[in-house]
Amino acid sequence: MQTNTIGLSSLLVMKKMRVFAVALIFLGTLITQPAIGAVKSGSSCTKAGIKSVSAGKTYTCVKSGKKLVWNKGVAIPVAKPSPAASAAPAPSASAGPAKVSFNPWASSFVTEDMTLTAIASTSKYLGDVKPSSAYKLVLDPAITDSDRAWITKMLDYTNGAFTDVLQGRITVYLGTTHTWSATAMRAAGQWVGDPNGTYPCSDGTRDAYCAGEDVALMIYSDIYKPNSNYRWDVGRRSTPAHELFHNVQFTLGGRNLGPEDPAHIPRWLMEGSANYFGYYMVEKLGLDTYSNGRGQQVTFNRAYKSVVPLAQYDDFASDPYGIGQAATEYLIASIGFENFLNIWKFTKSEGTFAKGFAKATGIELNDFYTKFEAARGSMKIGSL
Ligand SMILES: [Zn+2]
Repeated sequence: MQTNTIGLSSLLVMKKMRVFAVALIFLGTLITQPAIGAVKSGSSCTKAGIKSVSAGKTYTCVKSGKKLVWNKGVAIPVAKPSPAASAAPAPSASAGPAKVSFNPWASSFVTEDMTLTAIASTSKYLGDVKPSSAYKLVLDPAITDSDRAWITKMLDYTNGAFTDVLQGRITVYLGTTHTWSATAMRAAGQWVGDPNGTYPCSDGTRDAYCAGEDVALMIYSDIYKPNSNYRWDVGRRSTPAHELFHNVQFTLGGRNLGPEDPAHIPRWLMEGSANYFGYYMVEKLGLDTYSNGRGQQVTFNRAYKSVVPLAQYDDFASDPYGIGQAATEYLIASIGFENFLNIWKFTKSEGTFAKGFAKATGIELNDFYTKFEAARGSMKIGSL
């Protein structure tokens, strides 16, 4: 049961709060400065033939004498907005001013091109989502109407996006206290986390968010405690979609087995993809922006000041969330969202993560880890 339960430890939540405070301080300077790593004509690049998009131009890396430099660039024609697009403003993630391009498994690129390519691929795969309330919601009456409204909107949208996968099987517990969650789950004969714990997936001190095979639990005890100073920051906003994405993972790949099992899927991928999807949904529904979530978890995250290989992020103590989110963007931008989901599907059918990963992505797992480390400098991981 425990190996199949994904929860944030209270330590991690605290860590996220601290990181967010740092992010706020830097936000003001971030807006006025050009993107770090933006391509300039004549500046050095790493590999002949690679392309990068910056400020409306596509640049190509060319040889100039003994050096490799970005060429003059070719202006990208600006597409006229369609009448439909101007009538209903789309989220910025899916309506960028210039078409971005990203070469699969590139080692040098503009971070935003990777991120926007991944987001565009996700939107394309999901298509025109019809929100679906085909899941069971067990609701703490103390949840306010306005919180229930945005949370169920996110649950409905996520459930509708994966309706073929989830098939109405999921029960979602949405509460304000750990006592409520323990009582409600026991009454229903369900549980997540330590079977001998007092509360489901929590020691009862902080917010708890977790998922099992057919259950998701969100307890916003920090927000709802008397005289709370906590607020709906971008991290908390992402949690309903984050947890439902774990349900998608479990449905496609089965319960995640322990690290000693060959079918074990590493934490960087389980948590990084749930993080990615949570922030994707935050932006999609206009609750906050993807870049705020990414800034907090990836770019401004001091956990990544020292460079540790991605492959080693397979526990919760090492913070697999942010680096895994960057790796998720890299994977989706390289192979597309559908193939990305196949990692879970094929891990189940092939019996090992290494085989499932290779079948879904077209490259061996070790090759991927090598490519990721080569590309890492372009991803803004703990870079500020
Ligand atoms: Zn998670």
